[in-house]
Amino acid sequence: MKLQTHQFPYGSDNYGLLLHCRDTGQTACVDAGDIEATQAALAETGWGLTHIFITHHHADHTDGLAALKSAYHATVLGPKIHSAVSNLYDTQLGDGDHFEFAGRRIDVLATPGHTLDMINFYSADDQIVCTGDTLFVVGCGRIFGGDASMMWSSLEKLMALPDDTVVYCSHEYTLANAKFAVTVDPDNAALVERQAAFEALRENGLPTVPTRIDLEKATNPFLRASDPSIRAHLAMTDATDAEVFAEIRRRKDNF
Ligand code: ZN
Ligand code: FE
Repeated sequence: MKLQTHQFPYGSDNYGLLLHCRDTGQTACVDAGDIEATQAALAETGWGLTHIFITHHHADHTDGLAALKSAYHATVLGPKIHSAVSNLYDTQLGDGDHFEFAGRRIDVLATPGHTLDMINFYSADDQIVCTGDTLFVVGCGRIFGGDASMMWSSLEKLMALPDDTVVYCSHEYTLANAKFAVTVDPDNAALVERQAAFEALRENGLPTVPTRIDLEKATNPFLRASDPSIRAHLAMTDATDAEVFAEIRRRKDNF
């Protein structure tokens, strides 16, 4: 049976995620930014926390980690790159590593760029990937820890996942992302249509997360560096994909 999911908001625009296996009773939370919000989600679902998956060290993802770990004696899996919180990780993981959770294999994809330590968690069995602050709905993370070509390589790893993979990311940035996306990809009817759907969801207080790999490949400008009409729009017909991506990222930073 597939993992059950429970997504919950915290902070100004963060999402936490619980992954629960009915067969084994095991539950993981993805990131640990807010202990109270995580505990409320656990109380609401009735699930007991056994594992904590950390995508990267930023405070909005790890502020509750020490308290959550000790309250539940949960096993913490996080990036192998050293950070201020990596002493709290029981297992440290890098690109290509995998581990067992609730009787299934979880694959680790290193996706540096937003931070150098960023890792993403992928379950092929469940068709789920948790992208942290690497891939957002019609957006991608700001580059703090690497450079644009590093981030582009990271996004390429996510684009290589099956089209029907469900993408859970860590922030509700979608409306702002869509507002920018239509400026570089104005003729994309699927994007314009999605933008209207996002507005309707948010007006009703509903999340735009999760998304799917195929939807992002069709509408997320940061994944569309090879698209002829975006390249023409940017006057970058002969540039490499990484260069086009870098230009789109630069424009978003100044938007
Ligand atoms: Zn972050
Ligand atoms: Fe974040």
